[in-house]
Amino acid sequence: MTRRIGSGTLVIATHNAGKLKEISALLEPHGVKCISAGSLGLPEPPETGTTFVQNALIKARAAAEASGLVALADDSGLSVDALDGRPGVYTADWAERQWFEGEPGRDWYMAMGKVEGMLQAKGDGVDRSCAFHCVLALAWPDGEQAVYEGTAPGSLTWPPRGAMGFGYDPVFVPQGREQTFAEVDPAEKHAISHRADAFGKLVADQFG
Ligand code: IMP
Repeated sequence: MTRRIGSGTLVIATHNAGKLKEISALLEPHGVKCISAGSLGLPEPPETGTTFVQNALIKARAAAEASGLVALADDSGLSVDALDGRPGVYTADWAERQWFEGEPGRDWYMAMGKVEGMLQAKGDGVDRSCAFHCVLALAWPDGEQAVYEGTAPGSLTWPPRGAMGFGYDPVFVPQGREQTFAEVDPAEKHAISHRADAFGKLVADQFG
C-alpha cells in the first residue's frame, strides 16, 4: 500500500500561483494544507529528465529535500503518435521564442504550427492521434515516493479552434468529441482532462 500524506502540510513544487490555487482546491477538502515551493523561496531544479515521470520526480524530490516536508509536483505535455511522442517533455519549450518586442516569452500559436507542420510533412492520411499526459509525483524527505499518471487521448485538428483554455487546447479534440478543449467551458474540460485523471488516481489512493 502506498504511504499516505495524512493531514499535514504539503509543499506544491510550483512557482505558478494558478497551479497552486487549482491543486489546493482539490486537496484541502481532504485536510491537507498546501504551500508553494515559491513561497518558501525554494529554487526550481533543472528539468533534465526525458520522461514526464522523471521530471515530476526531480521537482518533487528537490522540494521535499529542501523543505523537509512531503512535496507534490506535476509534469505534463502533449505526445503525438506520428511524431514518436514529441513534443513530450519539450511541450512548453516548443513555444519558447527568444525575443519578441524585447521580451522573452511563449508563443503557443507558433508551437501548434510547428507540430502541424511536422504532421503535414508526413503526407496525406497521417495518423493524427495524440494524448495529453499528466504525471503527479509525491516525495517524502526520507526518499519514499509515489507516482500517478493521467492521460487524455484525442487527435489533432487544424486550424486551431476556440478561445478558452491554454497551451495546445485549440488543436486538441478529445476522443469521442467534436469540439476542441478550447471550445468547451473549463468545467467540461476538467471532467475529462489528463490532470483530472491523475488527480482522481491520487485522491483515490491517498484518501480513499
Ligand atoms: P508543465 O507541466 O508546466 O511543464 O507544462 C507542460 C506544457 O504542456 C504546458 O506549458 C502546455 O503547453 C502543455 N499542456 C499541459 N496541459 C495542457 C492542457 O490541459 N492544455 C493545453 N496544453 C497543455
